[in-house]
Amino acid sequence: MKLAGKIAVVTGGAQGIGRATAERLLLEGANVVIGDVNQTRLEETALALGQPDRILALVTDVSKKEEVETLVTAAVRRFGRIDIMVNNAGIAPVQDFLSVTKADYDKVLGINLEGAFWGTQAAARQMIAQGHGGVIINMSSINSGLANPNVAIYAISKAGMNQVTGTAAVAFAPHGIRVVGVGPGTIDTEMVRGDFVSSATDRAILARTPLGRYGKAEEIASVVAFLASDDASYITGETIYPDGGRRVLNYVMPEKR
Ligand code: NAD
Repeated sequence: MKLAGKIAVVTGGAQGIGRATAERLLLEGANVVIGDVNQTRLEETALALGQPDRILALVTDVSKKEEVETLVTAAVRRFGRIDIMVNNAGIAPVQDFLSVTKADYDKVLGINLEGAFWGTQAAARQMIAQGHGGVIINMSSINSGLANPNVAIYAISKAGMNQVTGTAAVAFAPHGIRVVGVGPGTIDTEMVRGDFVSSATDRAILARTPLGRYGKAEEIASVVAFLASDDASYITGETIYPDGGRRVLNYVMPEKR
């Protein structure tokens, strides 16, 4: 158990990567607070994960600064402190570049980028007050550095998030707080099963994925667990990319493998 006795907060923890992360952190011995805007799914997940004495679920909209702060405060009130903050909540609407409205733009940036910023700030404030360091993990994406105009605002939000990671890592290093990012490739969750992936994009994604398959949420959760642990004690400011080889591939993979 890499994280015995640690207290972790995971936003967007009701499903997908966030849920898998909560499950893995519990397995590694942490107590976990999950925040999500989807109350029904959040309650189902909290119940399904079992161990009610080690889980707290709180309805949270991460685009609202005060709600992210309340989530951190609730974790401290229930478990006494916070050691790990995972800013995971995100949305990825597929949309033509020219059709993006101000409301669309504000919504994606508000959840993906501002949510991570305020989550990082609230967690860092608490960790500094505690005086024992901590780890903040931001769920980025390969889209932070690859240009897909159908998810332009999403890509912009994740590129910005990488600078939340970098700047916060430098700001909080003197306090023993590490800030790291995880930038998954395409992972089999509801986000991609929805309108993110059509059969044409599915073919395109697999042609750009040397490992020849989508990742599983558990394969991202395991990277989070590693980064949250002392095994990653010299990593800060970086975003790690569990992407099946997508970012390093030039051209495309052969159709028949
Ligand atoms: P998902 O849609 O399955 O889960 C996202 C969760 O975030 C949901 O439970 C949703 O209710 C919650 N959420 C949405 N808006 C919220 C808000 N305002 N406040 C609080 N919670 C909110 O998606 P996922 O695939 O598990 O994605 C999780 C994270 O991983 C996201 O940040 C996403 O950008 C990132 N990511 C996913 C993939 C992928 O291929 N699935 C790839 C790269 C990065």
